[in-house]
Amino acid sequence: MLRVWEEGQSCPPWARALLLLEAAAPGTDRAVLTRLPVGERDARLVELRAGLFGETLSSLAECPACGERLELTFSIADLRLPAPTASAPYRFQRGAVAACFRLPDSADFEALPVGPQAPRVLLEACVSDVTCDGAPAALGDLTEADIAALVAQMAETDPRADLKAAMTCPHCRHAWSARFDIVGFLWEELGAWVRRLLAEVHVLARSYGWREDDVLALSPWRRRYYIGLVRS
Ligand SMILES: [Zn+2]
Repeated sequence: MLRVWEEGQSCPPWARALLLLEAAAPGTDRAVLTRLPVGERDARLVELRAGLFGETLSSLAECPACGERLELTFSIADLRLPAPTASAPYRFQRGAVAACFRLPDSADFEALPVGPQAPRVLLEACVSDVTCDGAPAALGDLTEADIAALVAQMAETDPRADLKAAMTCPHCRHAWSARFDIVGFLWEELGAWVRRLLAEVHVLARSYGWREDDVLALSPWRRRYYIGLVRS
């Protein structure tokens, strides 16, 4: 995980997610991981997080009602949502408009331009076989309401791609649902873990003259025991 964190330092979030997936399933073909729909990717990252840091999550949030800064705790179980029962291509139908779609994956995010056109490019990549009254059509022929319905159906198809955490403010009792970004959250947790680990290496390497590899080879329990001795 230390190497994953190091390698991902200069990477965008989608590439960090792939590095984490590779670490979770060593030997899996990267091309396969790249083509996992984002919901499946995030479900795997949720399980990786549970394995690394446990079933309870703490997150800082600001109450949208009273503005209070809160530390909220919730369970990984709240983030375990059912996978889609069908597989792509999915069918969309609204009045005379029909289309097929698949769900976005990491390759789509890799190819995505930066800027306001990004959502449209993503939609163009995932939607195919658009017809209007049975005649071939393009996304550009659809009304805004059609597009909104299509985007909503894509989101409903795999709710794991848009994880939400149920929040309640202990001060004003306001309840809301906040988007939970597992990639960003796990990456930050991993960063905190790496900084703690490297601080332990620093203390033990300096005190005993051990090499980094030797310190990392120790179990966490033994590292902490020696650090206790150094500080006593
Ligand atoms: Zn509040």
